[in-house]
Amino acid sequence: SPPALFAPRSNSRGWDLTDPVALAGIEAARAPFRGARWKVGPIVAAEGSGGEVIEAVSPTGSGAVGTVTLASPADVEAALAAARVWDAPVAERAEVLRRASDLYEARFGEIFALLAQEAGKTLPDAVSELREAVDFLRYYAGEAREGAPRGVFACISPWNFPLAIFTGQIAAALAAGNSVIAKPAEETPLIAALAVGLLHEAGVPPEALQLLPGAGDVGAALTSDRRVDGVCFTGSTETAQAIHRAMAEALDPGAPLIAETGGINAMIVDSTALPEQAVRDVVASAFQSAGQRCSACRVLYVQEDVAEPFLTMLQGAMAELAVGDPWELATDVGPVIDAGVRDGFTAYVEAARAEGRLIAQGPVAGAGHLFAPALVRVGGISDVAREVFGPVLHVASFGGGEIDAVVDAINARGFGLTFGLHTRITARAARVTERIEAGNSYVNRNQIGAVVGSQPFGGEGLSGTGPKAGGPDYVARFYGAPRADGAV
Ligand code: GLU
Repeated sequence: SPPALFAPRSNSRGWDLTDPVALAGIEAARAPFRGARWKVGPIVAAEGSGGEVIEAVSPTGSGAVGTVTLASPADVEAALAAARVWDAPVAERAEVLRRASDLYEARFGEIFALLAQEAGKTLPDAVSELREAVDFLRYYAGEAREGAPRGVFACISPWNFPLAIFTGQIAAALAAGNSVIAKPAEETPLIAALAVGLLHEAGVPPEALQLLPGAGDVGAALTSDRRVDGVCFTGSTETAQAIHRAMAEALDPGAPLIAETGGINAMIVDSTALPEQAVRDVVASAFQSAGQRCSACRVLYVQEDVAEPFLTMLQGAMAELAVGDPWELATDVGPVIDAGVRDGFTAYVEAARAEGRLIAQGPVAGAGHLFAPALVRVGGISDVAREVFGPVLHVASFGGGEIDAVVDAINARGFGLTFGLHTRITARAARVTERIEAGNSYVNRNQIGAVVGSQPFGGEGLSGTGPKAGGPDYVARFYGAPRADGAV
């Protein structure tokens, strides 16, 4: 009879922050880690050397949060030489991944603390992130099948979901029996090392999962080495294109690139939308996680008939947002990832102000790389040339007869990750979502936080290539031969 492999799956129950008992439990569990210092380095299944030692600096302004030994070229070589596919029976791989998911949940206190201190995550964001990581482990465990792994996968992940996306890539590659060499974002190696420790503790063999903390040079060394059989990447479109070129030169032509990149995601609010709901969903889409989500809303199109009252209400909601220390429960918007990024946003918004296009920006007080949500008017529906990866929302208005032109303008940008629409006209919702070129379209709700197993996540065009994360086609891409179950 089929093993536990096919057990019914349910997503993580998470932590209910409205429940005082659950909240007290979280406070007690994370408190000991406030101000803690972590110490990490390469996790390689062979003798390496270790490279430069750097301090991991918190975006919260609280100083160093740990020390990191970066991977040296010798570590990269050692990891590639030591990598071995995970040839355990499929049911065992699934079982180990599920065990890891339980370990993740059990370590919630340290994980929430680290997500706040290393990545600047508010507690609600940290809770969502841990849940998503757990969901990926359980979902991909259930997707493991008989079949030949490709071999060695380089998994290169971003700082904005340093646990969830890091874990999702690895879990999918491991579910298919590959050997993973993970290169976490240089901003967030501490949480990555903690995750790898838990995966090893759960039973993933050391030579099937190795960690190389470092900057882009480490990733580049992996994606241009013939011993790598596939690459899984989440990050910028430019980096994905560079990886693609490197792979074309050096890797086997069959080696897949699974890439999830950025987007200039839009939301359309027409004159029939419920304004209170739409405002709430715009705020969540644009400013939750300080706008540091690939899925976040970057351009808001409001029908001109309602634009003025709508934007007034939106500014009222923005004025209520508390920007500050992510550890504090009252904080809605934590810091952006580093000072350079914050300075770039400041320059961008100041330029808009000088041109008379800044509609609103709230005040900021406190330590860390804080940046207050800003609303910037753009000239017309075709404007906005680049993604601003933070809490900056562009606004344009459109006339009643222009909705098709708005959709065309969005499609013409070539990105296609998320899209949002607020309307109470059912036929319009059907037409617009049919015409829009986006991986994930959401109607009358926010456009972030795709749920593993229910809302497979991924874009098209400049927003990525490959199957959608958290969906039924994802793990299949990590196999090298047709799956025994015939799925593709
Ligand atoms: N999956 C996340 C969401 O739906 C975004 C992932 C990302 O930012 O890369 O909000």
